[in-house]
Amino acid sequence: MKRLMIIVPCFNEQEVFENTLQRLSNLLFDLIKRQKIAENSGILFVDDGSTDNTRQLITEAHQKYSHVYGVLLAANVGHQNALVAGLEVAADMCDVTITIDADLQDDIFAIEQMLDKFQGGCDIVYGVRSDRKTDSFLKRTTAELFYKFMNFLGVKTVNNHADFRLLSVRATKQLLKYTERNLFLRGIVTELGYKTDCVYYKRQKRTAGKTKYSPRKMIKFAWEGITSFSIRPMKLIMALGLLIMLCSFLALCYVLASYFFRNAGGGWPSLMISIWFLGGVQLFSIGVVGQYIGKIYLETKGRPRYNIDEVLNHENNE
Ligand code: UDP
Ligand code: MG
Repeated sequence: MKRLMIIVPCFNEQEVFENTLQRLSNLLFDLIKRQKIAENSGILFVDDGSTDNTRQLITEAHQKYSHVYGVLLAANVGHQNALVAGLEVAADMCDVTITIDADLQDDIFAIEQMLDKFQGGCDIVYGVRSDRKTDSFLKRTTAELFYKFMNFLGVKTVNNHADFRLLSVRATKQLLKYTERNLFLRGIVTELGYKTDCVYYKRQKRTAGKTKYSPRKMIKFAWEGITSFSIRPMKLIMALGLLIMLCSFLALCYVLASYFFRNAGGGWPSLMISIWFLGGVQLFSIGVVGQYIGKIYLETKGRPRYNIDEVLNHENNE
């Protein structure tokens, strides 16, 4: 029987914690009872430097229940890095991991289907939202645009898949070999190449608490995704430069022609427009190139992605 670890990143999730713990525990016990997973399977909560009571709640739950494990990070490092911290700790403890958000917006009953596919030989099983009606219009459309744009840029992602997924231990370990700081897990997992499948479910509303992804965090996340996987933006800028050069050449022909044939030409407004336009394009382009250089700068420093304060593990205590 395979040992499962359900990894739950938590950032200021005190409002949902009890409910999440309850529901996941019930599911876990049920799966154990029906011999789908090993008896020592568990739930691993990753506290991503919460400033509310989440940390205490995790610690208390760990002391109370033998199936609750914890990774307490020293500071907030963001959803993706918190997931990696959890995967890294879990990789040495279990045979298969499932990551799921603390608010349980993803359907926990899809977990059993995921395990069935895992038993059937899949190393990676994606949870895919077949229906996003519960998301706000803005979130839905921006997310859709984002996935379209990523595909256009040549990044393979699974549409409508967030970070609800099953990974076998060998897929987890392979994933951890991608040591980049600018992490976009959804893109990396599709590069692993192991046997993959999908499970479909309806996305629920958050039961309590607010989204921890502010618009600012969302934009940052999207930009990370784009720039850590594709250098096509730089190519697009080169193409834009060429196009503008061509246009200016045509404009030059036009000005020369009107000068020779009609003895009239120019005027300062046209000049200003072209200067401003080109200035803007240049600044923007330098900015994009700068973003990539910034990434190189961050990567070369090779700083750790997270700092673990404490691991709550029953095996160590014994
Ligand atoms: N999260 C985290 N660190 C952060 C932000 C979020 O660990 O800096 C966790 C959060 O606790 C939740 C998951 O990431 O378990 C997804 O966040 P949320 O549900 O707020 O995002 P949404 O579903 O609105 O996209
Ligand atoms: Mg959520």
